[in-house]
Amino acid sequence: MTLSAGLHHITALSGDMRRTHDFYARMLGLRLVKRTVNHDDPASWHLYYGDAVGTPGTVLSFFSWEDTRQAKPGAGEAVTIAFAIPPGAADFWAERLADEGVTFALDHGAASPVIALHDPDGIGLELVEEPVRGMSHPAASDVPLNRAITGLSGATLLVDDLEATARVLMDVLGWVESGRAELPGFERVRFTQATSTSQGARIELLRGQSIPPARRGAGSIHHIAFRARDDDEQADMVALLHKSGIETTPQIDRTYFRSVYFREPSGVLFEIATDAPGFAVDENVETLGQKVMLPGQLEPQRRAILAKLPEM
Ligand code: ZN
Repeated sequence: MTLSAGLHHITALSGDMRRTHDFYARMLGLRLVKRTVNHDDPASWHLYYGDAVGTPGTVLSFFSWEDTRQAKPGAGEAVTIAFAIPPGAADFWAERLADEGVTFALDHGAASPVIALHDPDGIGLELVEEPVRGMSHPAASDVPLNRAITGLSGATLLVDDLEATARVLMDVLGWVESGRAELPGFERVRFTQATSTSQGARIELLRGQSIPPARRGAGSIHHIAFRARDDDEQADMVALLHKSGIETTPQIDRTYFRSVYFREPSGVLFEIATDAPGFAVDENVETLGQKVMLPGQLEPQRRAILAKLPEM
């Protein structure tokens, strides 16, 4: 049974939202598709970046996590976020990163060219050449459209219980194992959404020996969200999780999607998010991301909330 269509979004913690915004919006050319606050902590930002319309599978969001300690990547968290770039675009990106003074490594030896780099908080990123899946709506920026990031490619998770995490990916979320390898100090298993027509169809699990657990802070990848077509498909996934003894939160309305959260057996925070209603539910597509949008229950406190938010 294949339920999921792949990744919906990934959420990380930013130590300096202005610096993060400059890196992802200007340098990587993603579109800020929603400017809102952390619903659970309205004094802090929650910014969503993606393609021109915030299509599921293209979205990376950040909570601001300022004035706190730096993250230490480790077991029980995602450690790398990969973006998809069109075939033939790696050399363009290598030149752009070099011009920006960003340290990176370009690997032409892999199945397709991969550029590895870090964002300003130290989050591991990859730009991976891969054919566009489904519709492409690249964001407008000074990156030529035929070179622009087309969405997420996938994520790499560091896990203790590789087989148990793999079972959740395969039996509940519809992923298929696509390869295993023994690397120095690591065992790696790759998963794909073979029939997916959307971006974000690649997950890599790494198991190392005696890797300490991650320490959350600025630069942590907070959670990985998977797509559910609608509430019914999400409910089917939740039923499968409960059947295998994994507890979930109730469904929570996140304005732009409806979410259920759970910790998979290795401790990584997973979310299942519905495709609907999407980022155009409270703004026009043309003006996405320009205004601070608040959920209905916070709207009466708009003035006080805006006054507390760090300057952007
Ligand atoms: Zn999320």
